Amino acid sequence: MDRALGDFIQQAFEVDAAVWDEDGVRDIAAKVAPASLGGLTNWLLRGDINHLWARWFLEGLADPLPYLEGTQQYAHLYKRVSDALASDAGLLPADERTQLASRLTKLLWRKIGRLEVGRRVVADRETRLFLWELYPRCWVCGAEFSDWARAAFLGEESDAEPRTPPFVDFYTSRGVKLLDLRIEVEHVVAHSSGGSSLLHNLRLACGWCNRVKSNRALIYDAEGAPRVRKHPTLGPVSVPQPFWVVRFLAMRGRCEDPSGCAARTSSDELTVAPRNIHGAPNPANLIVVCREHDPLRDVRLVASKFIPR
Ligand SMILES: [Zn+2]
Ligand SMILES: [Zn+2]
Repeated sequence: MDRALGDFIQQAFEVDAAVWDEDGVRDIAAKVAPASLGGLTNWLLRGDINHLWARWFLEGLADPLPYLEGTQQYAHLYKRVSDALASDAGLLPADERTQLASRLTKLLWRKIGRLEVGRRVVADRETRLFLWELYPRCWVCGAEFSDWARAAFLGEESDAEPRTPPFVDFYTSRGVKLLDLRIEVEHVVAHSSGGSSLLHNLRLACGWCNRVKSNRALIYDAEGAPRVRKHPTLGPVSVPQPFWVVRFLAMRGRCEDPSGCAARTSSDELTVAPRNIHGAPNPANLIVVCREHDPLRDVRLVASKFIPR
């Protein structure tokens, strides 16, 4: 551990007691986190927080909710944004402020406008067949779809029995319910975030990934703590937030073993594991792994009765 990292952690962490103290929090805010802090996923942690920050700022200028109903118009939104900027960015010269207001209103409006056209549509059989040929696996986790799932998805007759596997991934619990194994049409950018129903925004996902991803987009959209679950042989073990699993799988899509493994979600089912297996499975300590490079492969699969439904 280099010195800058040690110093940063000590300074940021020692004020733990001061998180309810303005000066303490201001002190933390003034520090710059060293690059090594986020491990392999520094870029994801920083990228997501910046995006979230921008979203909060925009929505703080004008709450998009009333505009979704269509009762308020663009000019109204512009006035709201412009008024908010007059108090927030009052020091900007008037012409720059006008430009900024117009730019930010457009960003907000585009998001809202897409929402209006983005009603959920049921993909017709032709679209389903097309997607099926493009994506024979869940685009997030790489799981292959079963014959049963395929027949159900395409509305075809099949003798394949719908059944859940006897052993499931203790860390994700995918497969405990039959719903987890279904094939679902997934909107990469969720409807509620303005994602369209055009083909470029559609993929096929398993029911588990689709449900867990839902309309969330950023690491920080999930509750920020791992969960504890009782493993049949290991006892209490922290398991990652399901959304973190999905976010990592969808963003990396490949085994991150340092050996330079070739496994990809386009051809293999992948999952996540803690990089340091003795560490908590939080976003600073997760990697995407294939079965072969899974440090937890001996303990990962458990009888599904050990996983709460
Ligand atoms: Zn999946
Ligand atoms: Zn691998």
